[in-house]
Amino acid sequence: HSDVDVVVASLVPAYGCQRRTPLTNKNCIFTDALETLSKEASFCGSDGRSLAFIRAASVLRSLPSTLTTIEELNRLPGFGEHSKRVVQEILEDGFSAEVERVTQKEKYQTMKLFTNIFGVGMKTANRWYQEGLRSLGDLRNSQKLKLSKQQEAGLQHYEDLNMPVSRAEADLIAKMVEEVAHSFLPGTIITLAGGFRRGKLSGHDVDILITHAQEGREEGLLSKVIGQLQSQGLILYHDLKRNSYHDAFSPDSKSTSNMDHFERSFSIFRLKVASHIGDIGARDHSPESSKDWKAVRVDLVVTPISQYPYALLGWTGSKHFERELRRFSCNEKKMVLNSHALYDTVEQKILAATCEEDIFLYLGLEYMPPSDRNA
Ligand code: ATP
Ligand code: MN
Ligand code: MN
Repeated sequence: HSDVDVVVASLVPAYGCQRRTPLTNKNCIFTDALETLSKEASFCGSDGRSLAFIRAASVLRSLPSTLTTIEELNRLPGFGEHSKRVVQEILEDGFSAEVERVTQKEKYQTMKLFTNIFGVGMKTANRWYQEGLRSLGDLRNSQKLKLSKQQEAGLQHYEDLNMPVSRAEADLIAKMVEEVAHSFLPGTIITLAGGFRRGKLSGHDVDILITHAQEGREEGLLSKVIGQLQSQGLILYHDLKRNSYHDAFSPDSKSTSNMDHFERSFSIFRLKVASHIGDIGARDHSPESSKDWKAVRVDLVVTPISQYPYALLGWTGSKHFERELRRFSCNEKKMVLNSHALYDTVEQKILAATCEEDIFLYLGLEYMPPSDRNA
């Protein structure tokens, strides 16, 4: 390494949570390819390989300009041989033959189709593939297949749930939830988290955090809110989970699960929409095609105010940004971060936060606004 290389390298830090990653991505042509290979690897059960591709894509995502030469890659962290080869291929030919090949594969296409069903993970999708199932029709017609309530709803509303949710739709849903929450508990604070908080114009779902300035007042609120919405016919599916941070939560537990312990519901809302006359009959001839509503996935998460900054940070994403925050905390600071708290394993204490800025400060990281967390 020359001195110049070292200086340039220091411009792109190794952890995704140390890099500003705005929404605009000047390197889509590369990141799309790398993300396809990441998916393919995860479909094959190779989580390590999958993550390597995600890491490489995330580095390119943070660059202010489009990559033009392979030499530039040598100054970037996170690039293994395989990712390098893919970028080189695209630089030379304008596309990657390997990626083209992957997207043609029956297994890749089927796994993608199946894992896009709400409630279907890698394991289930793979089992179905091994059993010879290939299409949604196969799933719908299968006699012996036993689906969970969640998967049934996911399959039933597949088309709607795989249409992007607009910012306007997300705001509408947040407002619906807020109105009902206020009718039970004035002062309830509703926050749109997830991709929309990072500035995305559309998303695959709506992530909503619910809290109240008085600790404890929020407990039990969600079941009332869901019950009320349900009586208005606005809920197509929900699975209410009680909070479990009183019993199960231990910040220094060796639990590898990323699931948090909030009272929550992963639900499907029935959202009224203006029917598009032009669309009617264009896709199919079922009475469904004239429907004036759309199924929308909504994640509702209730948090006590004392854990709210951690919940907000954890539920704003991106997924890779969160993964990198936790990796940084653990490797560089000997601290355990999750959506409930930050635990200092050296001092053996939980660090309380009143806002997201506090958390970045504890970690010795420069504060990143949500719009820069698109890692
Ligand atoms: P999209 O537009 O696709 O919805 P997104 O960034 O909002 O993009 P989500 O899958 O909705 O993606 O996740 C938002 C954030 O919530 C992520 O940072 C993720 O880590 C967190 N999250 C999602 N599911 C869970 C869960 N079951 N437990 C804890 N955190 C979760
Ligand atoms: Mn989301
Ligand atoms: Mn979500």
